[in-house]
Amino acid sequence: MELVDLHTHSCYSDGSLMPSDLVALAKKQGVQILSLTDHDEIAGLALMKEATEKAGIKFIPGVEITANWGSRSIHVVGLNFDQENTFLIEFLEKIRSDRKSRAQKMASILSNLGMPGAWEGLESAVTNPNLISRKHFADWMIAQGFVKTHQEAFDKWLGDQCPAYVPCTQNKIKETVQVILQAGGVPVLAHPGRYKLEEWALQELLDEFKNSGGIAIEVCSGSHNASDVSKFTKIAFEEGFEASSGSDFHSRASKFMPGCQLSLPETLVPVWHRF
Ligand code: AMP
Ligand code: MN
Ligand code: MN
Ligand code: MN
Repeated sequence: MELVDLHTHSCYSDGSLMPSDLVALAKKQGVQILSLTDHDEIAGLALMKEATEKAGIKFIPGVEITANWGSRSIHVVGLNFDQENTFLIEFLEKIRSDRKSRAQKMASILSNLGMPGAWEGLESAVTNPNLISRKHFADWMIAQGFVKTHQEAFDKWLGDQCPAYVPCTQNKIKETVQVILQAGGVPVLAHPGRYKLEEWALQELLDEFKNSGGIAIEVCSGSHNASDVSKFTKIAFEEGFEASSGSDFHSRASKFMPGCQLSLPETLVPVWHRF
C-alpha cells in the first residue's frame, strides 16, 4: 500500500515548519500522498501544492475544522475540497476570529490562576496571529516554567474539562460536515481515540457524524496506539465508514514524523482511493 499522510500541520496553524520544509521532511520519510490540514486555516495550501509538485508527491488539499460538541472540541478533517468555495472560506474566517477573543479570555483565566502575561507572551510562540491554539499556550507555559510538558499543561489546565479551557467555536458537527460537503470535500472524523469517550458517548458521536453526512474516520493516527487502531478498524468496518490515516505531525520535536502512524489494515476502504 502507498505511504500516505492525510493529517499534518504547518506554521500556518500550530505546527512549526513552513510547508516547503514539511514537504521535504515527508519526502525523506517516503510519503507518497500528503495533505496539509492546518486548524481552521487554508492559507498554507498554495505553498504546499507548489512544494509537493516539485517533490513528486501527490497533494490533497485539507483542513482540520474545530467543532463544538457539548462541552468538548471535536475535530473534523476536510479533504479535497474546492479552495475557492465562499461558504467554506467565510466559515473558517469566523472560527479564526472567534479564536482571537477566546485566546484573550484564556489568558485572563490563566492570569487569575497565577500565570500572568500569557497574552503578551504568546506573541513569540505564535506563527500565524490569526490562528492561536492551545498548543501555543502550552508552549508558553513550558517556557515560563509553569509546567514541564505539553501533557501536564493539558492535563492540569488546558484540556477540555480543565479550568483554563474555553471553547474556540460554537459551530456544531452537522454544519461543519455540511460546509465541507458543499465545498465538494470529504469529511473525516479526526483521531476518534483521542477524545477518550465512554462507549455510549463514542457511539453518539459516530452516529451524529454519520447522520450529518460524515464519510470517513481516522483509523490510523499519531494519537492512536495499536489497540485504538484495532478498535476503530472494527468500528469503520461495522458502521460503513471509509478509513483515513495521518500522523497529526506538528514539529520535529513531536513523537510522530510524517507518515509514521501505524499502517491501515487491508480490510478497510482507504478514503484516498477517491482522489
Ligand atoms: P485548540 O484548537 O486551540 O483547542 O487546541 C488544540 C490543539 O492543542 C491540538 O491541535 C493539539 O495541537 C494540542 N493538544 C490538544 N490536546 C493535547 C494534549 N493532550 N497534549 C498535547 N497537545 C494537545
Ligand atoms: Mn494542533
Ligand atoms: Mn486534532
Ligand atoms: Mn491535527
